[in-house]
Amino acid sequence: MDCIFCRIAGGDIPAEILHKDDLVVAFRDIAPQAPVHILIVPVKHFSNLTEVNGDDYEIIAHIFKVAIELADREGIAESGYRIAVNSGKEGGQVVGHLHFHLLGGRQLSGDLG
Ligand code: 5GP
Repeated sequence: MDCIFCRIAGGDIPAEILHKDDLVVAFRDIAPQAPVHILIVPVKHFSNLTEVNGDDYEIIAHIFKVAIELADREGIAESGYRIAVNSGKEGGQVVGHLHFHLLGGRQLSGDLG
């Protein structure tokens, strides 16, 4: 298993885990771009959004539920936050396991790239 996020989900690589259940794991980004920068990752390996189909859309819905709950727990629900997904090379994705960024705690730019 050479996927870094699979290894974090499996407990083989340490991370500051904020949430874990059968479907998703959430942990702090190692190089945070904002005071709150959390990665929400499906336990099941998808390389990117293109691989998601069928019943797996339920996992995506669950990821948003966890993100919304984490935003509340981190105290950024009222001030506002961003949920972002980089999918594929031109989407700016670096780690090849689907993940959702939850960013907040500062004024984010309106520039989406
Ligand atoms: P991408 O550019 O693929 O959307 O984002 C990958 C994110 O994963 C980056 O924000 C990067 O800092 C984060 N990251 C990469 N390797 C690790 C790691 O080993 N642990 C954690 N916690 N975050 C990582």
